[in-house]
Amino acid sequence: MTKTAVITGSTSGIGLAIAKAFAKTGANIVLNGFGAPDEIRAVTDDVAGLGSGTVIYHPADMTKPDEIADLMATAAARFGGVDILVNNAGVQHVEKVEDFPVEQWDRIIAINLSSSFHTIRAALPGMKKKGWGRIINIASAHGLVASPFKSAYVAAKHGIMGLTKTVALEVAENGITANSICPGYVLTPLVEKQIPDQARTRGITEAQVVNDVMLKGQPTKKFITVEQVASLALYLASDDAAQITGTHVSMDGGWTAQ
Ligand code: NAD
Repeated sequence: MTKTAVITGSTSGIGLAIAKAFAKTGANIVLNGFGAPDEIRAVTDDVAGLGSGTVIYHPADMTKPDEIADLMATAAARFGGVDILVNNAGVQHVEKVEDFPVEQWDRIIAINLSSSFHTIRAALPGMKKKGWGRIINIASAHGLVASPFKSAYVAAKHGIMGLTKTVALEVAENGITANSICPGYVLTPLVEKQIPDQARTRGITEAQVVNDVMLKGQPTKKFITVEQVASLALYLASDDAAQITGTHVSMDGGWTAQ
């Protein structure tokens, strides 16, 4: 039977790679995220071209619970339920705690944590009815350890780890699993663009930016690729992963081993 996957924040980066990976399996895909209308049309066509499933886009803003409810209701109405939910949308703001803008704190907690509560609570009744479901939360190495100046991000990512475990326990007997993926530094377009800029402002080479600044704490000294994260998401959504639940899988080049 054709599976349906909802991936939040899938117009770019990790979410887009996950959407592409699930599309290739023939799943129906619900894309979500921001972007110019022509960009979103191009992404939707691109993902639709990869498999036999239907691909739709929903513009829900992950700071708005009513729009999230509409995203999930749209997916259920169009495809008869959501089998795979990937909570991926995420944003960052870097500032020391006492200067951290209150509106940035609220925004990051809303997008990186609370939106997952809203998608999960909407998805579970349908998953329970089917006796099958997969919830995959894209956390971060920052779900396990902290870095200075990222209070809201680190708090939200630690929070999503707790939400994952709680949900997993509540639905353990329903054929539904809930897990987090904890990537280290992933080479997304956003990160890629920063390399030449940082080299210029710091007066160092691009290789030095990568090794000494960005990947300082990532022992492999290599970025994770979006395809590697997507491949792990596919595995967690498979029947082989049915006994993996309430936990996280790190993909961080050894970062959190230190
Ligand atoms: P990205 O900026 O490339 O993509 C983020 C996506 O979220 C985009 O599609 C964007 O439109 C969407 N988005 C942002 N605000 C939104 C909102 N209010 N409503 C709906 N969609 C919204 O970032 P990415 O690097 O691919 O990050 C994806 C996830 O992976 C995030 O949760 C991030 O915290 C996590 N992560 C990233 C890295 C990394 O190094 N890139 C490492 C660990 C974890």
